[in-house]
Amino acid sequence: MACVTDLAKRLYAKSLSGVKYPMQQAPPTTPEHSPLLGMLPNQIKELCASQGQAEFRAKQLYQWIYHHAADSYDAMSNLPKAWRDQLASGHQIGRVAPHRVDISSDGTKKYLFATSPGRFVESAWIPENQRATLCLSTQVGCKMGCVFCATGRQGFQSQLTAGQIVNQYLSLPERESITNIVYMGMGEPFDNPEAVFDSLALFTDPLGIGLSPHKITVSTIGIIPVMKEFLVRSDCNLAISIHSPFEDERRALMPIQHVYPIAELVQVLKENPLAASRKLSFEYIMFAGLNDSLGHARELVRLINGLRAQVNLIHYHSVPSLSLQGSDDQTMRDFQDLLKQKGIMTTIRKSRGLDIQAACGLLSTKELVKTTLEDF
Ligand code: SF4
Repeated sequence: MACVTDLAKRLYAKSLSGVKYPMQQAPPTTPEHSPLLGMLPNQIKELCASQGQAEFRAKQLYQWIYHHAADSYDAMSNLPKAWRDQLASGHQIGRVAPHRVDISSDGTKKYLFATSPGRFVESAWIPENQRATLCLSTQVGCKMGCVFCATGRQGFQSQLTAGQIVNQYLSLPERESITNIVYMGMGEPFDNPEAVFDSLALFTDPLGIGLSPHKITVSTIGIIPVMKEFLVRSDCNLAISIHSPFEDERRALMPIQHVYPIAELVQVLKENPLAASRKLSFEYIMFAGLNDSLGHARELVRLINGLRAQVNLIHYHSVPSLSLQGSDDQTMRDFQDLLKQKGIMTTIRKSRGLDIQAACGLLSTKELVKTTLEDF
């Protein structure tokens, strides 16, 4: 079996063969001006020790960055001025405000964050009643090549650092309203594992940002080795993009199936059940005439039988130049009814931010690169 890196390389090479991408220089970075955002507590401690500071200063600095969301050294009022100056001469904080926002008629906002000159990711803020969900990105583009996905069609440009992932939360104007975070934006989170694990640690550390792990969901198409690590290393929720219970069909939709078959993934989940406090869900985008029959529903029931999991049915939103169409509402309801009759909690997810291309599967910064560069 090929390893996922081989798959990624093959997918990346394949994507590069068909599409032209703007060639951008990586931003000039020097270690001495590296950002503080993204550093873990032990890294902050080492930095403080190297600058002759007492250990309690490390905790203060860490809390300023993550807990108080300070975006300037001036705000760090209980740190000695001389040390703040020393820090400022060597390190930027690393906070980056969004470059642009699009606002949907349903209240959803899509933010564009620059990660380096010419490279952008999108994050969606989705308010609903008393809660608000942030859908964040982990990569600029994606290597995984799922045929229905706008991000996949953009190809892969770069990984985000843990700091760039956390920045999408800390620099969001609506940060204080956020009750839930989903790693469902651009990119495959488990293809950028270290940055994702570090960002989860920063989000959930009570001394740091301090969010409950049960309010955070990481979504994957199923990179099994990293998923196994996630089951052990994290208390956050897990969502699996399944989209078809049949191997051939899934392979045609999602090349990852060549490397990590869904049946193998489900078996891993059955052998390593999540703690009762963690949620497991299967995401299922419904394509008209392709994966929306009752036969599919029955096979899905058979596949996930025995798992404590919810299924979320998702409307497919057409991507230009693709012939795939979304299932109609009645077909989705029939599919849902069958799953419910078999005892599986099943929702039909509301589409949000459709008019600003923020809905599921539509995030892409390919077209924005050119126009937004002109704004810089
Ligand atoms: Fe990548 Fe997810 Fe899109 Fe697949 S669906 S191409 S993993 S962003």
